[in-house]
Amino acid sequence: MKLSQHIVFSAIVAAFILLLVRNPLLSLVFFITAVFIDLDHLLDYFLFYFPKEAFHPLKFVREKAGYFLSCVWFRKKVVLIFHSFELLAVLLILGALYSRIVLYIAFGIAFHLSLDIFWNIIIKNRSKKICFYFIVFRAIKGFECRNLLSRFGEETDQELKSSSEKS
Ligand SMILES: [Zn+2]
Repeated sequence: MKLSQHIVFSAIVAAFILLLVRNPLLSLVFFITAVFIDLDHLLDYFLFYFPKEAFHPLKFVREKAGYFLSCVWFRKKVVLIFHSFELLAVLLILGALYSRIVLYIAFGIAFHLSLDIFWNIIIKNRSKKICFYFIVFRAIKGFECRNLLSRFGEETDQELKSSSEKS
């Protein structure tokens, strides 16, 4: 799912949390987590797809930021360390036992994963199974795109073409 869509949906839910719980910090924690767990795309990008040419940070932000968040470059490995039901389970337990902030971090991850699952599996049919969101499952499959994603070759080529036509 696109960053802009995550921002809009997460902001709506964060506003409801603010109304219900009346705690701006918890609402903010939810919003930040629900949007920014996609930063693990950046990690994968630098680990597996980092361009060989010299790196220019400003040029990267200007030209590639939307590109790396779009996932269209997923061709070899897909780790996505924060997109993980296991991490969610650990944070839910720790949050329920010890900290409301950790609990709202878990809620943010749960909401983000729900949107991703709805968008990537049900609407776009990108990954083959819901198990994709277990990091252990991705590890068993060697984090290989060809074992984990469906239609990624053809679709990504089209998306790449249309995104370069727009820019
Ligand atoms: Zn995501």
